Amino acid sequence: MNKKTKIPFVAGNWKMHMTIPEARELASKIVKSSVGLSEAEIVVAPPFTALSEVMKVLEDSSVQLSGQDLYWEEKGAFTGEISASMLKNAGCQYVIIGHSERRQYFGETDSGVNKKIKAALQHDLFPIVCIGESLEEREKGETMGKVARQIEKGLDGLGSNDFERVIIAYEPVWAIGTGKTATPAQAEEVQAFIREKLASRYGKDPASCAIIIYGGSVKPENSYDLLSEKNIDGFLVGGASLEAESFIRIIEQAIKAFKEKK
Ligand code: PEP
Repeated sequence: MNKKTKIPFVAGNWKMHMTIPEARELASKIVKSSVGLSEAEIVVAPPFTALSEVMKVLEDSSVQLSGQDLYWEEKGAFTGEISASMLKNAGCQYVIIGHSERRQYFGETDSGVNKKIKAALQHDLFPIVCIGESLEEREKGETMGKVARQIEKGLDGLGSNDFERVIIAYEPVWAIGTGKTATPAQAEEVQAFIREKLASRYGKDPASCAIIIYGGSVKPENSYDLLSEKNIDGFLVGGASLEAESFIRIIEQAIKAFKEKK
């Protein structure tokens, strides 16, 4: 991998939205408005059908492309699936892995997440690995246990070199698409724990450089306060990334908060 990822890191997950013309239009608006925002790593994750066309729009900009998922096999009879090399070939630099919607609705497991991370790394893609607890787990006091398990199983067998290229997205399931954001203190508590957990696996220095982002109803109004927290390096944004204006305002707030806490 020939590129060091920047902080703040802000990725927009377009989920199952956007036809090709709509995706092109949104990407063009983001590219235009992102000209003065090169301090941040800006990433968009359109649906598979729009990847190549969005790539054409991003070509001369600093905005990067991400897949929303992949399958770990290289090729073969896996109807409906997309491989890491296909994503790379379409122009992706990143791939989201283990999103809670994949875990909840499509039966994704930690061991599958682990295989997907390894496939991404083998093909020079930076994995954005999503972890987080459900409302029930939070209420039972199981949040830390859950994220610790997801880290242990998801990153199983990954050495320090691999780990340097992994972005962790803490996304409490109860905050995704619900309008209920974790408070900055709630997010920071878990993200600090994640960094400690990474330090115990990979050492203090590598863990202090790890990129740990937050996701769950991030909006322009809450992004400054969230990113002001010590262990929040950026965002994975769903709903608010579907409009260029709100996505760009989140990036601006993230840059402002990041500069002030440095
Ligand atoms: C997401 O899709 O990862 C997400 C955090 O969605 P939203 O911002 O809509 O909660």
